[in-house]
Amino acid sequence: MTAPSALLVEARNVMLSFDQTPALRGADLAVAAGEIVAIMGPSGSGKSTLLHSLAGILVPDSGEVWYDGRRVDTLGETERSALRRERFGFVFQFGQLVPELTAEENVALPLLLGKGRRGGALAEARSWFGRLGLDGLERRRSGELSGGQAQRVALARALVARPGVLFADEPTGSLDSLTGEQVMDVLIATAREEGTTVVLVTHEPRVASYADREVIVRDGTVSPMSVGRVPS
Ligand code: ADP
Repeated sequence: MTAPSALLVEARNVMLSFDQTPALRGADLAVAAGEIVAIMGPSGSGKSTLLHSLAGILVPDSGEVWYDGRRVDTLGETERSALRRERFGFVFQFGQLVPELTAEENVALPLLLGKGRRGGALAEARSWFGRLGLDGLERRRSGELSGGQAQRVALARALVARPGVLFADEPTGSLDSLTGEQVMDVLIATAREEGTTVVLVTHEPRVASYADREVIVRDGTVSPMSVGRVPS
């Protein structure tokens, strides 16, 4: 008998088209709990569509998406939205902070949406600033933060509710390479400390090299990364 599988997130033969354009043509990906996986591949190959399908943002035309033993693609919009809010954290290329709110209010948002008390949510939010190298920036608005600082605030917001999975779509895409590396350093270190599973889309090999495993998406299907290996 095999040991019980510790798969947390899974796409099985996922197909998804936008109008007549196929974006995913039978994509399979299985991510174990605690694993950090980088999804690589050329622009337009379907990386973001795969991430959005795994995260319950897009619903595939066919195939299956699973999270923690639960079928995701058959859930209704309300249940998928609750799953995203309660179990998933998101970081996108541009941090998408709410400009009217301070950094600590931005970080507290997921807790407030989960009906947390304001005082407790802000205290919890503040506890992330030191960990992410953001001490002293709690009361700044996004216009008063550098790109790297804003992206670390976005990372704190994605992690504050202690999600099962962090979905990151080109999280360093708008940053210079040094700042991008600093963001990746804290993203990976914090995910490892928290035991958070990470699914990361990037087209940058340096960013992907932080992951435990790299897969490549081409023409809407997934294959293991094989760069540097001579085909037998
Ligand atoms: P990647 O993340 O690898 O750059 P995407 O998943 O964004 O690729 O896109 C895959 C394909 O689907 C591309 O042909 C893209 O043009 C198309 N596509 C993605 N999103 C949409 C959309 N909202 N409407 C129409 N076509 C889309």
